[in-house]
Formats: sequence, C-alpha cells, structure tokens
Amino acid sequence: MSTLDTEAAPGARNGGAPDAEAPADLRFDTVAVHAGDRLPLEQAIPTATPIYATSTFLSENAAALDAIFGGTRKGYVYARYANPTVTALEEAINRLEGGAATVAFGSGMAALHAALQVVEFAPGDVVLAARDLYGATHTLLHTLFAPLGVTPRFADCNDAEAFAAALQEEPRPRAVVIEPVSNPLIRVLDVEAVVRQAHAAGALVIVDNTFATPYLLRPLAYDADIVVHSTTKYFGGHGDAFGGSVTVRDPDREGTLRTLAKLLGAVLSPFEAHLIHRGTKTLALRMERHCANAQTVAEWLSTHPRVAAVHYPGLPSHAGHAVAARLFRPGAFGGMLAFEIAGAGQPAVYRFIDHLRLLIAATTLGDVYSEVSYPVMSSHRDWSPALRRRAGITEGLLRLSVGIEDPADIIADLDQALASAEC
Ligand code: PLP
Repeated sequence: MSTLDTEAAPGARNGGAPDAEAPADLRFDTVAVHAGDRLPLEQAIPTATPIYATSTFLSENAAALDAIFGGTRKGYVYARYANPTVTALEEAINRLEGGAATVAFGSGMAALHAALQVVEFAPGDVVLAARDLYGATHTLLHTLFAPLGVTPRFADCNDAEAFAAALQEEPRPRAVVIEPVSNPLIRVLDVEAVVRQAHAAGALVIVDNTFATPYLLRPLAYDADIVVHSTTKYFGGHGDAFGGSVTVRDPDREGTLRTLAKLLGAVLSPFEAHLIHRGTKTLALRMERHCANAQTVAEWLSTHPRVAAVHYPGLPSHAGHAVAARLFRPGAFGGMLAFEIAGAGQPAVYRFIDHLRLLIAATTLGDVYSEVSYPVMSSHRDWSPALRRRAGITEGLLRLSVGIEDPADIIADLDQALASAEC
C-alpha cells in the first residue's frame, strides 16, 4: 500500500495521528484548515534539522501522550516544554561544552536568569559576582535577586587576594558568577584557579562563556558547574538571531533547569534555533579566522602612533597572556580586543566612528563582520567618569569585535578613520 494512499487504515499515516482517520466528506472550510497536514514523512528524511514550526505535537494514541506527559517515554507534547529544532541545538551546544545537559533560552539574559535560579538561592544567601561582568548581569542581580534577599557581592576576581577575601566573608557565597574574558578591557580570568578556590569555599561556579566560546575554553573541563552563553553572539555569528543557553555539569540539575525553562517561558523559537544551529556548524572555522584576524589587527594597532594601548591576550605584553596561553586552545586568543586612541575624548572618538566605512558601530559582538563599540556611550554610560577611570575605561577606549573579513581591509579602515578623524 502506498504511503500516500488515502484509504490507509487508521494508524497507518504518521504513526496513527488523527489526520489518518479524518472523514473523507469534509466541507470546503474544514479542508482548508486540515488538508496537507501530517503527510507521511517516511519518504522525506531531512539531512538538516527541519524547523518544527508547531506549538504542539501529536502522539499515536492517548496512552502514548500520557506516557510522554508522565516522563516515562521520550517525546514532544508542547513546544514550550521542548521542540525538536531546539533540541538539536541544545545537543550541539552540550557536546561542544562537554556538559550533562543544555537548555536553550530566548536570549542570553534569559539564560543567565535561569542559571542563577538553578542555584536555588534562599533568602539571606550571597552571590559573588566579578566586578567587570556584563552590565545587565549586574542589573539582573540588583533588580531581580536582591529583592528576594539574595545579596550580590562584587569582587575583582583577577585579584587573587581580594577574591579569596570575598569568598571567606560571612555569609559565604552560595555561587560565584564570572566571565573568562572581561568586557570591555579583555582581561583574562584564571578560571581554573577561581573554580578551585570557589569550590573549596563551598560555592558553585557559573561561567558566562559568551566571549570565549567553547572553541577557546571549556569551563566544565576545569570543573565549573554551569556554563551560560548569549548564543546571539558567536554561536549564531551572523547578527540575525537572539538566543541563550545554559549547560550543567551535574545531570541531577537538568530537571530543575527544564522546569525553570517551562515556567519562565523564555524559550527559544525554532526559527532562531535553526539559525543559531546553522551558525554553530561554522563556529570553529569562524573562530579560527576571528582569532587570526584579531591577532593581526592587535599587532598592527600596537605599532600605530595614535594608539596609546591595545588590550588583546594574544600580545605577549597583555597581563593575561600567560593564563590565556595555558587555558585557551593553543595559539588562539579570541576575536575580541580593545584599544585606546591616544589623548582622545568623546568628540574625537565620535569623529573616528563616523569616519569608519567598513567597520560597523554596533553594541554587539561575535558576528562575521567587524563591530566597534564605545563603552563610554554604551555599556558603561551609566558609570560615573571617576568610576570608569578607576576601572581603566578611558574616554578614548573602543572595543573591537574583529570579524572574518580580509584583515588588510579591517586595518585599512581603521587606518583611514584614525587619520581622517585627526584623533
Ligand atoms: N553575556 C554577555 C557577556 C553579553 O555580552 C551579553 C550581551 O551582550 C549577554 C550576556 C546578554 O545576551 P543577550 O543580549 O543575548 O540577552
């Protein structure tokens, strides 16, 4: 019997989905709603993961649906709980990070929120966060966790003594939140040492690995507990999709994480999952080029007379060079750098930005194209000038997410903009 046979017995089409039993004498309006759905898929096994644009899933009968709901059988019932397109991306990220389980979210911030909730803080707990975390992570801790009685404590995690003191201070923190590569000064954190110290003090470690990606660094290999990504950045890589992920090392945390995803509801759409999964397939190739280009651009910038400082871990002069050489993939130092235009204030930096012809002024990173951001205008605009100065974020500092273009073109654009803007 052909799989397209309209006389197929009940249960023969799509594993017995209701369409197989649809009466033949339906009226025009009803046919318009149902016709064409759930055609048999046996003849069309896709090589790429399809975009499952569906909010619910059918089962062959009520008992099967009951088993999936009850968790005794694997399957899909409702796309806020799980969707195969999203599952495929989760599996890819999980394999790349070497985790027990990964859950995708609708943005990096949703992922951070869930990762913090996995800790299951109680009122009176403390969360220790690196001082130079992504700004919205600070805001998240202050705005959503502090009112619940979870006090954020901040420390310079690159300063071993200050970090040790912050860990020992009572009440001791339940969790530590870090980024291996800081924004915007591209400082490199010794994740191995931080995890060791934190665990010795009884704290879990959450690592936002967005800047490094697992291509450079796999925090779980250094015993970190939870890894978070804004997959909007390098995983997606093309500036066209928003997403986030949380990966856990301990399989016992998967249940909590999935329950959180269901209840927070900040799930990833299958369309975004498709784009990010497609980006993931070229992550290694892109990262190789991002790293090589960033090294070339950093070396060029460090010889430029109008550039006062270059922050890139691939430069032997960078304070984090040795740590990066030990923890990162051999010979790779990432695609992110920062540089300071000598003596430049805001007007000169604006002139520089306005003279760029190839590089894009954008408050994101990790895309195929090179992107410049000005922390004083964007990520650190709410900081007082004194606070910024103390943190080393000067008026002339720019962050550059080096793209995969020909490095000679990136350099030529920087060169002409530095000259034209009379910085
Ligand atoms: N973590 C880091 C390090 C980031 O840079 C960002 C965004 O820039 C986020 C998290 C938040 O990610 P999203 O914008 O996808 O919510």
